[in-house]
Order: sequence, then structure tokens, then C-alpha cells
Amino acid sequence: MSLKSVNDILGVLEKQAKWQQQPFQQVCQFWVEVVGSVIAAQTQPLSVQRDILRVATSSAAWAQNLTFSRQTLLLKLNQKISTPLVDLRFSTAGWQRHPQKEKPQPTVLSSEHPSYLGDVNERQLQVTAVNQDVNQVFANWAKTRQRRSQPLPLCPQCQCPTPPGELQRWGVCGFCSVKLLPKNI
Ligand SMILES: [Zn+2]
Repeated sequence: MSLKSVNDILGVLEKQAKWQQQPFQQVCQFWVEVVGSVIAAQTQPLSVQRDILRVATSSAAWAQNLTFSRQTLLLKLNQKISTPLVDLRFSTAGWQRHPQKEKPQPTVLSSEHPSYLGDVNERQLQVTAVNQDVNQVFANWAKTRQRRSQPLPLCPQCQCPTPPGELQRWGVCGFCSVKLLPKNI
């Protein structure tokens, strides 16, 4: 048997396994992707019975909010799984957060996302570091550290910590200076 045909067979088996995967396993696989990491942290899929997915939530408020948006979630979920669900049920029953459980990771790495442009800041920092001599880099680092350890003065408009340079220039923070500009400029 050639290596290619072995690979073909393995590919078919893998596809079949995926197709035959239990609906609940599929739900778990796509849950974070469908609901997002914020909701995923407050929810835990429990079971699929008669095409109804039961989900435990961290609080009654979450159960209520998610019940309102369950049609949207249902649509999104059904696009991912092979056996469509008919409804979602949210309740605090069965909620159990295991502290040692890993934080849900986004399934798509930002570097794999089509709109990823690379880490611009990091690249700029590297370029800056190369163009400066070591002493200057250290001096800048010390200055930044000093700046960070000092509390910034507050913007009189919005009470946010503001670099002194901005206050000297505009009397308010950069954001407020933009907001205070006449609209027709
Ligand atoms: Zn301000």
C-alpha cells in the first residue's frame, strides 16, 4: 500500500470521526468561538438532550441575558455543528468553575487572522533600540520608569491622569483638547 493511500484512508477516517462526533463534543469545541471569551468564562455547556443544549451560567443575570440572545447564539452554533440544535437553555444549575481550568483561549491566534498586520509597536521598538546606543536606551528606560512611578497630574476636564506636557500645551488632556475644538475646524 502506498503512503499516499494510507494518508487518504486516514483522512477519510478523520472526517468520519468528526462527523460522528457527539453533538455535545462539537458544541464544546466551538463554544468559545461562538459566544466569545467573555461569555465563555461565565458559561459552561452541560449536555445536549433531544437537540436542546443546556448551559450552566455563573449567575442568574447571565442566564437571563443569554436567554434573550439565544436565537442568535443558536444560529451561530448551528453553522458549526453537524446536528443542528433546536434550543438553548441557560440556568445557574450545574454551574461549577474549576479553578485549575485553563482560561478559554481564542481558537484563532491573532497572528493567523487575515487582518493581522504584524506587531507594529514591537517592530518599531526594535528599530529604535538598534538606532540608539546602549547608554541612550538605558537613559530612556530610566526616564520612562521614573515617569511611570510618579503619579500623573489630573486633567481638570475629565480627571484622567495626564502627561504634564499635554496640560502645559492645552490646559487639558489630549482627548479633551480634541473634544473642546470647535466642530467646524
Ligand atoms: Zn481630559
